[in-house]
Amino acid sequence: MHQPVILITGGSRGIGAATAILAGEQGYAVCVNYVRNRDAAEVVVSAIVARGGTAIAVAADVAIEADVVRLFAMVDAKLGVLTALVNNAGILETQMRLEQMDAARLQRIFATNVIGSFICAREAVRRMSTAMGGKGGAIVNVSSVASRIGGPGEYIDYASSKGAIDTMTTGLAKEVAQQGIRVNAVRPGVIYTDIHASGGEAGRVDRVKDAIPMQRGGGSDEVAQAIMWLLSDQASYSTGAFIDVSGGR
Ligand code: NDP
Repeated sequence: MHQPVILITGGSRGIGAATAILAGEQGYAVCVNYVRNRDAAEVVVSAIVARGGTAIAVAADVAIEADVVRLFAMVDAKLGVLTALVNNAGILETQMRLEQMDAARLQRIFATNVIGSFICAREAVRRMSTAMGGKGGAIVNVSSVASRIGGPGEYIDYASSKGAIDTMTTGLAKEVAQQGIRVNAVRPGVIYTDIHASGGEAGRVDRVKDAIPMQRGGGSDEVAQAIMWLLSDQASYSTGAFIDVSGGR
């Protein structure tokens, strides 16, 4: 049997890195995408290879269509037929009110979090579709609980971009179900990663702890487990589904 192939966007750090390592342990050949941090991506690749797995690191900005096309072509050439995509790359910027936001900021957030996920999903569907000669496959989008609780202190631009991801998950799941492709999403709560420093709040997890029923932030590995379950055959009858990984938030 051919080794299954997975592409994880933003696989160099945080949730993406944890998912890449778990996927390697589960026998996938892994493409670790990154945009800037080559060293971090190489650390993830080395961790997978050290455990006997197969992995490559590929630089590409998911917000740039030509980069995405080149990224998928690299996966085709180096790893083979794509089985799974994790649309994980995402950004957050310093918390501010709408009155202060300019269009350039909104374009950055939506270009990475939304357009990037759309064009990666498009490239994946073109390869996986049984109607187009593929073998089927699965996509997991990394949304956020913020898509439902966006509001003061919850980054309304970021939360709205995740709302778009939720709607895309629901719609695309229906669109490609008969092509043998499942599309699901995870909605992490507050997870200990670097993203909170880019949001200008490195200590955010501890600040919001009281609002989390389980009274703690989550680990990237806890999100990775849900992602890999949704991609697995154990989730063979799940599509258009959402799993919250949020400590009950
Ligand atoms: P991190 O900031 O830790 O990592 C972000 C990753 O995305 C890095 O690998 C980074 O690459 C990559 N990336 C950023 N922009 C691009 C781009 N334009 N093209 C390709 N790759 C890019 O983030 P997290 O692990 O926290 O977040 C991962 C996902 O989980 C995001 O979609 C986020 O919105 C979501 N999420 C996170 C939560 C949290 O509390 N941490 C909560 C809810 C959702 P590089 O290393 O090269 O910069």
